[in-house]
Amino acid sequence: MTLTTEKLRALDRAHHLHPFTNHHRLREGGARIITGAEGVHVRDSDGKRYLDMMSGLWCVNIGYGRAELARAAAAQMEELPYYNSFFQTAQLPAVQLAEALAEVTPPQYNRAFFGTSGSDANDTIVRLARYYWQAQGEKREFIISRRNAYHGSTVAASSLGGMAAMHAQGGPLIPGVAHIAQPYYFAHRQSGGELSEEEFALQTARALEEKILELGAGRVAAFIAEPIQGAGGVVIPHRAYWPEIQRICKKHGILLAVDEVICGFGRTGEWFGSDAFAIEGDLMTLAKGLSSGYQPLSAVMVSDRVAAALDRDDEFSHGYTYSGHPVACAVALENIRILRDERIIETARGGVMAHLHAGLQTLAEHPLVGEARITGFIGALELVADKSGNRAFEKSAQAGVRCRDICFDNGLVMRAVGDTMVLAPPLVIRREDVEEFVEKAGRSLDETQKALSG
Ligand code: PMP
Repeated sequence: MTLTTEKLRALDRAHHLHPFTNHHRLREGGARIITGAEGVHVRDSDGKRYLDMMSGLWCVNIGYGRAELARAAAAQMEELPYYNSFFQTAQLPAVQLAEALAEVTPPQYNRAFFGTSGSDANDTIVRLARYYWQAQGEKREFIISRRNAYHGSTVAASSLGGMAAMHAQGGPLIPGVAHIAQPYYFAHRQSGGELSEEEFALQTARALEEKILELGAGRVAAFIAEPIQGAGGVVIPHRAYWPEIQRICKKHGILLAVDEVICGFGRTGEWFGSDAFAIEGDLMTLAKGLSSGYQPLSAVMVSDRVAAALDRDDEFSHGYTYSGHPVACAVALENIRILRDERIIETARGGVMAHLHAGLQTLAEHPLVGEARITGFIGALELVADKSGNRAFEKSAQAGVRCRDICFDNGLVMRAVGDTMVLAPPLVIRREDVEEFVEKAGRSLDETQKALSG
């Protein structure tokens, strides 16, 4: 028996609690039920087709519908569906994937610690960074992060993150986390700031040094940041930012943890955000594009510097039942094989990327758009009430949410972060998909403008 959309919605309302969802509104409106996907398009239970400019949740880098990944999962399930990696045990896919990751990531990373989500990988980073310093006889507990950063939703990862709405819910965060400003130049200008882009980048980077000095360098274990902040509104730092961060981390000897959950696997047009911004990290978080979202899988890449500290006669008491899950690892291996053999990242960078950037530039002309920015395959459109002065909308106007809903109606998936519309399409987006995007986004912006002025 096939369930009707109505029936599915009723069951969903009755039994399913959704992540990051207003449950009252969900009960009133019901969920959009996605039933299938191909390439860069998804379809819902009513047969409506959407251009998915968000790659699901920034993860389906390779595109939907790659049967090779399904076959890799099925073959592994038949061979060995599960075994753990605790207590000196290993299985083939985890070993092979760790080797492949050592090959594709920057040279200092030669070891992978597996998990199942970006959140638990960042929890691993907290534990690993503190353990690293303990192993050297130092008690460095502080992790410095940035406001509006997103590092996940577990207690540790949400404490690391800088999302005010998350911090406001649910009581005390973990101790030993401090936050500094984000390099969000558009917001600086919008609030009347007058620094040049480079001055602002240097100022926000130097906030790290101020915080280190405030806490005392001997108490700081690590700084964690996304190369480009994703969920915080696609904040693309000026090129002066990362070298300054790097200099400060080196000077004070603190570990640099690079959260590549969104930026990894081609999102920036390079294999990793660390490649795009020449960041030399000590720890790196991978998830999402690691398996293109086909399986829940994450990894912390551990540099030789940190790995050396683990090489001692002591057990690092940390890990998950599903660390290095063979099915997830087999799927990720196949994903990486396809990325390499088909040169998906290099082909996209040399081809459709220019078309996507030109398309976004066209949308930048729209009266509702104060700024369009993009690096590789991650970009944003800032919605403004007055283009000439980049004046923001009143919060109550809910410009972003309204635009997002209109996009959905028009068969286009973009996400709203406040009044910033963000996009991160699969890397296999084609020229004709970009044209579809520009047409649908332009139409949605027109309709949003009408709705907001009406
Ligand atoms: N880090 C970053 C940069 C992310 O964007 C996300 C998820 N959007 C996470 C960590 C958390 O990953 P997960 O949802 O898999 O726990």
